[in-house]
Amino acid sequence: MAVPKRKVSKAKRDSRRANTWKAKVPGMAECPQCHELKLSHRVCKNCGYYDGKKIIEVEKSAQEAKAAEKEEKKVSKAAAKDAKAIEKETKKAAKKTAKTAEEKVEKSAEVVEEKAEKVEEVVEEKAEETAEAVEEKVEEAVEAAEEKAE
Ligand SMILES: [Zn+2]
Repeated sequence: MAVPKRKVSKAKRDSRRANTWKAKVPGMAECPQCHELKLSHRVCKNCGYYDGKKIIEVEKSAQEAKAAEKEEKKVSKAAAKDAKAIEKETKKAAKKTAKTAEEKVEKSAEVVEEKAEKVEEVVEEKAEETAEAVEEKVEEAVEAAEEKAE
């Protein structure tokens, strides 16, 4: 009986097994007829065409079911998109409302400030006027007193 000269090392064994038993993805290509993925060099299972010629009759119900499924996916995708858009729009509107409210508060605060300034001015003017009037009256009183003293 032939006996191997050397024991196959674990590394040699493992590296051999690593590459040989990998599952391979079959060669897929887009069908030029219906644009479904199909096995390359095979008749398309979806439309039954190969090399631009109809080779086999494909059951229409299967085809229609696939088309319906595709359409459904499209619709649900569109609905999801719409929902997202609506959510975005709602968020935008909420932001805008918050901003306008903030602006309004700011504006009213400014108005209040302006009014306070005006009130202050009026008070100052009146105080000045009163002070002048008091001064005049004091002067008059002083003059009267001086006249009386003479
Ligand atoms: Zn096809």
